[in-house]
Amino acid sequence: MAGRTIGHLDPAFIRMMDEMKDLLRYAFRTKNELTIPISGPGSVGMETCLVNLVEPGDTVIVCQNGAFGGRMAEIVKRCGATAVLVEDPWGAPVDLDKVEAALKSHPNAKALAFVHAETSTGAQSDAAAICALGWQYGCLTIVDCVTSLGGIPVEADRWGADAIYSGSQKCLSCPPGLSPLTFSERAAEVVQKRKQPVQSWFMDLSLVMGYWGDGAQRTYHHTAPVNALYGLHESLVMLREEGLEAAWARHAQNHLALRAGLEAMGLNLLVREPHRLPQLNTVCVPDGVDEAKVRRHLLTEHGIEIGAGLGALAGRVWRIGLMGQSSTRGHVMACLDGLEVALSAQGRKVPRGQGAAAAQDALANQDPARPDTEEAAPRKAAASA
Ligand SMILES: *Cc1c(COP(=O)(O)O)cnc(C)c1O
Repeated sequence: MAGRTIGHLDPAFIRMMDEMKDLLRYAFRTKNELTIPISGPGSVGMETCLVNLVEPGDTVIVCQNGAFGGRMAEIVKRCGATAVLVEDPWGAPVDLDKVEAALKSHPNAKALAFVHAETSTGAQSDAAAICALGWQYGCLTIVDCVTSLGGIPVEADRWGADAIYSGSQKCLSCPPGLSPLTFSERAAEVVQKRKQPVQSWFMDLSLVMGYWGDGAQRTYHHTAPVNALYGLHESLVMLREEGLEAAWARHAQNHLALRAGLEAMGLNLLVREPHRLPQLNTVCVPDGVDEAKVRRHLLTEHGIEIGAGLGALAGRVWRIGLMGQSSTRGHVMACLDGLEVALSAQGRKVPRGQGAAAAQDALANQDPARPDTEEAAPRKAAASA
């Protein structure tokens, strides 16, 4: 990313674009032709899916169990369409019975949109089952995989999802600013057969594909963020080198270690099993603890940033990310250690070293052949030097 910028139509850059599409197909587990990174953060990926598939007058069922479902509904409304909300409590997964009831009572609904991994709450929804309901009721499915891609299984083809978008800065461990996206053949046809042009010129996929599509003749659409795309390319190469399954296993193992440590320190996770996201751990703030002070202490004294609660959970939880390359044993240990000091500083009795010991035990009980990026990193640096 820090290298000299080359042209956005340079043959070397165009070769990289083709590789990027294959790497994204690997990450999404899809054969979808229309698989590209959108120039913009995850929200632009979300908006791209919706503005291309939704026309004025359409009805879209939107599942909301946290902050990001609400954003989808807002975009649907701005498309001139009707958003039918299926609401679940923050911290719970999307309820399949409620989704089916909404599909039954809105037989003309064109699409069903939901968030696979709710970053605002730490809850994972059953994407395979929700997509299956979409198929059963003849609805396109639009899936937010911003926080799931690279951290937990995302199976675009097996789910039969029609449109999936993600983001570069969550489990892909890249700087923010790009949004990988994949459209099924059925979804690509819906875009082609629109009655009205997409209201957004920039996000109109029929125009964007003139630049990203196959064939030697690329036509200028917008100037691609060349250096940022090289960064995403490298992060996808790293994911493929580690292997998707190995990356998922690493996220799961480090999550179990963190959880064991937190519980040994008397802290509880908000989300119930089996809906917990390994990459986003939502911890309930104990009574009498100043949650902002703990976060400030971790950041200034330990160099660790954890998230605050959002929306309905503001002030009630901490959100600890173990995403992508940051999901390491070292980070789990450092976080538990920092939390112990920060909580003790507020007069809360935390038995010294108990969290770390429980996490060590949890790791020792796991497969010793587990992959670990801490060990893989120096090898990689040497290779690229
Ligand atoms: C981060 C996130 C987004 C938005 O991505 P930005 O890059 O911040 O625009 C959307 N959905 C989910 C689930 C996210 O975690």
